[in-house]
Amino acid sequence: MLIVMRRDAGQQQIDEVIRAVESKGCKARSIPGGDRVSIAVLFNKGALEEAWFQDLPGVKQTIAVTRPYKLVSRETRPESTMIDVGGVRIGGGRMVIIAGPCAVESEIQAMTIAEHVKKAGGDLFRGGAFKPRTSPYAFQGLGEEGLKILAKVRETFAMPVVTEVMDLEHADMVEAYADVIQIGTRNMQNFSLLRRAGKAKKPVMLKRGMSATVDEWLMAAEYIMAEGNPDVILCERGVRTFVRHSRNTLDLSAIPVVQRESHLPIIVDPSHAAGFRDQVMPLARAAAAVGAHGMMIEVHHEPEKASSDGAQSLYPKQFEILCRQIRAIEGILGENQA
Ligand code: PEP
Ligand code: MN
Repeated sequence: MLIVMRRDAGQQQIDEVIRAVESKGCKARSIPGGDRVSIAVLFNKGALEEAWFQDLPGVKQTIAVTRPYKLVSRETRPESTMIDVGGVRIGGGRMVIIAGPCAVESEIQAMTIAEHVKKAGGDLFRGGAFKPRTSPYAFQGLGEEGLKILAKVRETFAMPVVTEVMDLEHADMVEAYADVIQIGTRNMQNFSLLRRAGKAKKPVMLKRGMSATVDEWLMAAEYIMAEGNPDVILCERGVRTFVRHSRNTLDLSAIPVVQRESHLPIIVDPSHAAGFRDQVMPLARAAAAVGAHGMMIEVHHEPEKASSDGAQSLYPKQFEILCRQIRAIEGILGENQA
């Protein structure tokens, strides 16, 4: 931590801050600047509270230098994490394309869409069996029946499946069927669910909370890793802003920021960011160009009949074109590594 003193702070105030730092068992080093003094706090064993110092007389600002997250941090593990999901590797090299409907609605619906996804070059299949809906009257998902359909998709098309866990009650059941357990935006800070996901033997895809900062998101991932699960995939899905032209605002700058701060793979969900079909392909191309490790796209063969998120679901033909575009962008990035 760095404690920046006010310009008019006197020696007595500086000494008082130094004593406060030393009283916490740390060393204080005074750094004289052009017009003010800063005090570096050294040799702290654990996290320091900014509140301990920021109200002391003469203090202008405290700046946290080390990060609150440890296991997710690149400082702890410089090499990027690569996660194997049934032979599909996420987090290095090839961009992973995950696609499927918002919700599993029936066997015929899931199998039809899965066939398109597979043919277009999708790597993993997605589909919710437990749906977090704003309205309690909206379709809530097929539950275990939906999970069984996902298992059939996996068997038939040799595609691993991603599906959401909404609560502790169904965690064992979802873990048994899923290849990747998804934690949705509304549950990003459901700490008991995060701890449970940390005990799972399957990789976890952690979506960014719709109002979460990158630090809060990484701390949520830390909860999962702290329980022993090293396989966490982060998913940027847009954050809530003042705009009305899209459902959320896709925060593409979060991708390079997360890649600098963390070794965990990060993918992008342009569908839930956009909310409207016509924005999904441009945002997905942008996500590929920005260097995401993959993306997750909602696809439906009859989106006008979908029980959730039809307006943002691509038609199979659009998805097929998008897959080709993503691979082309990937080719360009491969040739010109920044
Ligand atoms: C989903 O992926 O189906 C979903 C509900 O996403 P989010 O949690 O990002 O809203
Ligand atoms: Mn959806």
